[in-house]
Order: sequence, then structure tokens, then C-alpha cells
Amino acid sequence: MDPILERYQALEDKVRSYTPNLDARRLFDAFTFADTEHHGQLRKSGEPYIIHPLAVADIVADLGLDVDSVIAALLHDTIEDTDATHEEVAKRFGEPVAELVEGVTKLTRVQYVTKEEEQMENLRKMLMAMAHDIRVILIKICDRLHNMRTMEYQSPMKQREKSLETMEIYAPIAHRLGMQKLKWELEDLSLRYLDPVGYREIITQLDERSSAHEEFLASIQHSIQQRLGQEGIHCSVYGRVKHIYSIYRKMYAQDKTLNEIFDLYAFRVIVDDIPECYNVLGCIHDMFKPVLGRFKDYIGTPKPNMYQSLHTTVIGRAGIPFEVQIRTWEMHQTAEYGIAAHWKYKQGMANKTLGTEEQFEWVRKLLETQQDTDAEEFVHNLKVDMFADEVFVFTPNGDVKSLPAGATPIDFAYAIHSAVGNRMVGARVNGRMVPYDTPLNNGDIVEVITSKSAKGPSRDWLNIAKSNEARNKIRQWFKKERREENIVTGRAQFESELKHAGMKLEAITAEEVLPNILHKVRFGTLDEMYASIGYGGTTAAKCVARIRDEMLRLGRLQAEKAAAAAKSTAESTIYPGSNPLQELHGSNKHSDSGIIVEGLGNCLVKFAKCCTPVPGDPVVGFITRGYGVSVHRKDCPNAAPERRKPEEADRWIKVSWVEGKLPNYKTALELSARDRDGLTLDVAMALSSAKVRVNALSARGLPDGYATVNIVLEVRDKSELTAVINRLNNIQGVYSVARSGGK
Ligand code: MN
Repeated sequence: MDPILERYQALEDKVRSYTPNLDARRLFDAFTFADTEHHGQLRKSGEPYIIHPLAVADIVADLGLDVDSVIAALLHDTIEDTDATHEEVAKRFGEPVAELVEGVTKLTRVQYVTKEEEQMENLRKMLMAMAHDIRVILIKICDRLHNMRTMEYQSPMKQREKSLETMEIYAPIAHRLGMQKLKWELEDLSLRYLDPVGYREIITQLDERSSAHEEFLASIQHSIQQRLGQEGIHCSVYGRVKHIYSIYRKMYAQDKTLNEIFDLYAFRVIVDDIPECYNVLGCIHDMFKPVLGRFKDYIGTPKPNMYQSLHTTVIGRAGIPFEVQIRTWEMHQTAEYGIAAHWKYKQGMANKTLGTEEQFEWVRKLLETQQDTDAEEFVHNLKVDMFADEVFVFTPNGDVKSLPAGATPIDFAYAIHSAVGNRMVGARVNGRMVPYDTPLNNGDIVEVITSKSAKGPSRDWLNIAKSNEARNKIRQWFKKERREENIVTGRAQFESELKHAGMKLEAITAEEVLPNILHKVRFGTLDEMYASIGYGGTTAAKCVARIRDEMLRLGRLQAEKAAAAAKSTAESTIYPGSNPLQELHGSNKHSDSGIIVEGLGNCLVKFAKCCTPVPGDPVVGFITRGYGVSVHRKDCPNAAPERRKPEEADRWIKVSWVEGKLPNYKTALELSARDRDGLTLDVAMALSSAKVRVNALSARGLPDGYATVNIVLEVRDKSELTAVINRLNNIQGVYSVARSGGK
């Protein structure tokens, strides 16, 4: 028999083994069609080309995919490499098959250039998104696997290129789809060409000790089997040396030799149901010493690709550690074939009625397909809409850009750079000029035509653009373009903020401070700052805060200078550490005190230094011995009725404030705050902006980072004093401002 025909026959048998009512004529027709179309073409190995589609179809059949997939695999290179057309394939094998072939062809056409990690991720996503039907990806992976298996006939450059692409694109996709078995083979084959020396080194070393490995594997396998048999657990146990690329990665990452690799061996125990898994785990941990921190329960918490198993690492004989993976048969199918296990299940279920559709729930979730479809429908509707909200397109250089679904050339242009967007005068998609509002499709090559004389974006671009990035950049352009307007609005915002902070524009624009101020806000001129505030490049609050800091710094410098000067001459107004209340002695020598003493008419009045009342405070008088009437605030502790001595009761008399204009009154405040640089200065600035006369100001640092500031000031009345207190309370770090005496 013709060896090629023989291969075909093996394929047909394989497919029939899981497709009892197979239409073998249709399958054979597909083989004949491909054989005829590829006639005369040779593989690099010198074999007839048809060997390749046959081999790919065989791998597809290994996965247990449906007949349409197997046929599409046989035909997968016809549209690309032969005269066959989509229509022809559709007519002979049906539209679904033609679409699968077309899908694989499209993926084959995607040009791959070595890229950074982010580009890789985009490329992977794009391939997934381009393959509307998951079977397209599965066939493509099988195609790649066969090409990698036969890579030895390619040129070294091609080998490297394809291996890199496989390692970076296809192996991760296989992983994401949970197809561990294919992923391992793809990785090992790629490694063989990417690092031939490292690969061979591992192979040689494994070979050298292969009998030792086998002996170890067999003995552990035997003892596990024996023990589980005693426990009456029905199971299968497999042992293996881990796959080459995983060993390679460990050696490389941990800079170790093969002999130092911690876990080289993996065992798999496959049982019938989940409770058995945990029973097995118990037995294993009883037989061998578990390594702490290595137990993972992927049954309770499956991996995102729906992988489920219990993992543990234990120490075997002679201190050799090994990993044990415990799973059910279902989990095993999923682990080996991932998403393709769906088809595998179908065949198993035909005989056994294993369960309900619930078992496929994870596929459903993974693919986010619509609910309530029957099994057959479901298989055919498997769509990869994991990336339904993204579209992936190429720059002319082959970079992949990810844009929101529905994105237009405008979004693309701004994704490249705002300057590209602002200068866009046209766009080409796949070489053809298109209107700006053309939605982009996966895999489109988009080119932006720019001109230096472009007038910039137009307002309706804001409605066409789908990405926030593009819209923000367009808005920003409009803001920047209207500079005059921005200066006016920015200046207004700035001045209002400045006023709010209690600073004057004249103060900061004074010749001697302006350069410092501009340096601090990092603008060349005030107009630049206003414009920036106007279009939102910065905020008025930010600028004012910086300016305030700078003013304080300048103020501090001045105060230091003044203090130095004062020290050399006489006394300054600031008396650190002294009690400012002493200053009150003999004060308020107004001819008119502003106080009416009931029943005493004109008499000598003085204000108690303990509570320093001001007009508006409720007050009470005390007739002193020889010094006239002393006026206290009613809430002064010294005037509290319970503290008045009984023998002096008749000395306490009613007093009240004179109506009308009065002189200023001295009073004292004590401010408590967290100690910090510039506190005293802030207090002084607040007092001066309140326009009150300050007689004394002294600050004292306390332990634990606190400070008190004592202030003696002159105010008209209580309402002015309240205003001052409010101002002081607003200073950063101040937690109380109290009048001396009183509450
Ligand atoms: Mn191919």
C-alpha cells in the first residue's frame, strides 16, 4: 500500500474511533483535494507536501476535535499555498470548514518581528481575537507543533525565528488554553533551537543517568501503588522526569546544575473522584515526609486556565524530593488537553454518561459564550470573545497596538503620539485611504498620513474617537490653542486662590521676590503660569501653595536678619521664653476705660491680667484695696462665684461696657500646635493679615514635638478677637487657640 494512503487510513481509523457515524467519503474527499492541490510541492525534507497536512490532521484527531476540524486541518494550507479558493472549499466541504481554513490562513499571514514582552502579549491576544472560532487556534497550534517537529530541515535562521515565535507566542497560548501536553512539547522543541548547547547538555545528563532515574521512578511508583492498593483506592500512578524546558528554566533561574535541581521528578496519581484525591494525599504524606509550603490545592482553587489538581512535594528515599500531582480522570483530561478536552469528553460520555453539561461550565466561563445552548450548538458556537472589548492593529513597522473595540484611525494616531494625531491629514488601512471614522479590525495595518501644515484636530473628532486617550489629547490641543483665553481664566483662578490664602498679588510680584517665585513654580513668566492653570496643566491651588512656601522661606530669611540686627542693638518684639503677660502691668491707661462701674461713677479701673477682657466679653468688677476696680471676665476662674471669699462678697460689683467707640484693648492668647519650621512665622503672618497690633509674641517648644505660642495683641472688641482666633486656628498644625484665663 502507498505509504501516504496508509497514513490517511490511520487518520481515518483514529477519527472513526471517536466518531461512530463518520462520513468517511467526505474525509477522504478532503484528503484527495489537498493531495491534488499540493501535488508537486515538496517539504524541505524532500517528502511530498501532503505529509504535513496529514500529520497536522493526525494531531488534531489526537485532540479528539470534530470532523470539520480534521478536514480543515487537511486543507489548512490550500488557500494560502495553492490555487484553491475560499468559495471552492466552501462549495465542497461547507462554509464552516472554509471559515476554519480561512481563519488558520489569516493567522499564518500575521508577521512576527522580535518584540518586547508587552508586544508579545498583544500579539497573543490578537491571534486569539482574530480566530473567531477557538478551533482555528487549536488547528494552528497543531500546525505549529508539526512544523516544530520537522524543524531540522529548515535553515538555522528559520529555526531560530520559528522557535522564538513558538516560545513567545504559541506555547503561552497553549498554556492559556490549558493544553499542557502540547505546551511542553512546543517548549522543548523551541529550546532545542534557541539554546542547542543547553538543551543537549540536559539531554546528555539525563541520558547518562537514565537507568538511575528509571529505577527511582519505578520504585516510588511501586510503593505508592502498593500502599494505595492496600487502602482499596482504585488509581493509576505515573512517574516521569519533568520536561526539559522546565528543568532548563530552573537551572538557569537558580544557577544550578542538573544534580542540584530540587524537584526533577513528578508523579501523577489519577483517581475516580475528588474525595479519593484527598485520601491519596493523606497516604502520600503518611508515606513520605512532605516539604513545608509546597502543598497547593488547585482543586479548591483552580488555575485561571481551569487546571485542577492537588500538588505536594515530598522527600523520598535517600532524601530525593519529588512532586506528586493528584487528580481525577476528568481533571487529567483538562490538564493535558485543556480546552480541547471538551471534545475528548464528548466521546467518553457517549458510552458512559459521565455527567451533565455542568462539566463544561468552565469552558463556557472561559469563553464567555452565551448560556443555554445545547451541546452540539455549543461546540459550533465556540467563539473566542475573551478580547471582545479590544481590537489589535499593526503599525507599518509591525508593532501591535491595542485599542478599544470600535476604535478608528483617530484613536490609532493619538495612540502613537499626540503630535501624530494633531498633524493627521489622512489615514490608510491595509494600504487603502479610508475616512477617519472607519472602525479598525483585528490585524489591520494602519498608517497615518501627517503634514506639518495640518490645522489640527477638528471638534467632531471628539465624537469619532473611542479611546479616552485620544479624546483627552484632542481636548488638550483645544485648550492649548486658546492661549489668550486660558491666561485670562487662569489668572482669575490664581488671584482668587491667592486671596483665599491671604496673600496679595502685589506682594508676590514685587521685583525682589518675583524671580524666586517664578523659579519655585517653574514657569518663565506669570502668563505662562496663568495659561497652564487655564488649560488644566496645573492648578491654581498647587501654584499658590508653592508660592506660599517660598514667601515663608523669604520671610524667615528676613526675620533671621532682623533678629541678628536686633540682638546687636536692643530688644526685639519677640521675647522667647518670657511671659508676655508681664507686659500688661500698668497698661490700659486710657482716660476712659470704657467701663461703667455701677454705683461708683468715675473711678480707677484696671483690667485683670489673668483674663484680659475686651469689649463684648461679659464682665464683673472687684473693688481692690487701694487700686480701684479690677475688671474680670465673668468666665475667669478668679471671678468664679465658688472661689469668691465670703468676707469679700460685697466687693464684687456689676460693671458693663460703655456703648460706642472704644480704644483698643490688650488681650492675651495661647496657641498650641505641633511644632514645625515656620510656625511662628505663619502666626505672625496671620496676625498681620488680620491687621491687629501685636505687643508680644513668644514661642516655646515642648517635649514630644509640641509648641505653644503666647501672643499679646490689641483688639477693638470680642468679635475682632474671634476673627483673629479663627485665623490662627486655620494655620497648619494648630490644634487650639485659647484666651488666657477663662475657658
Ligand atoms: Mn501548515
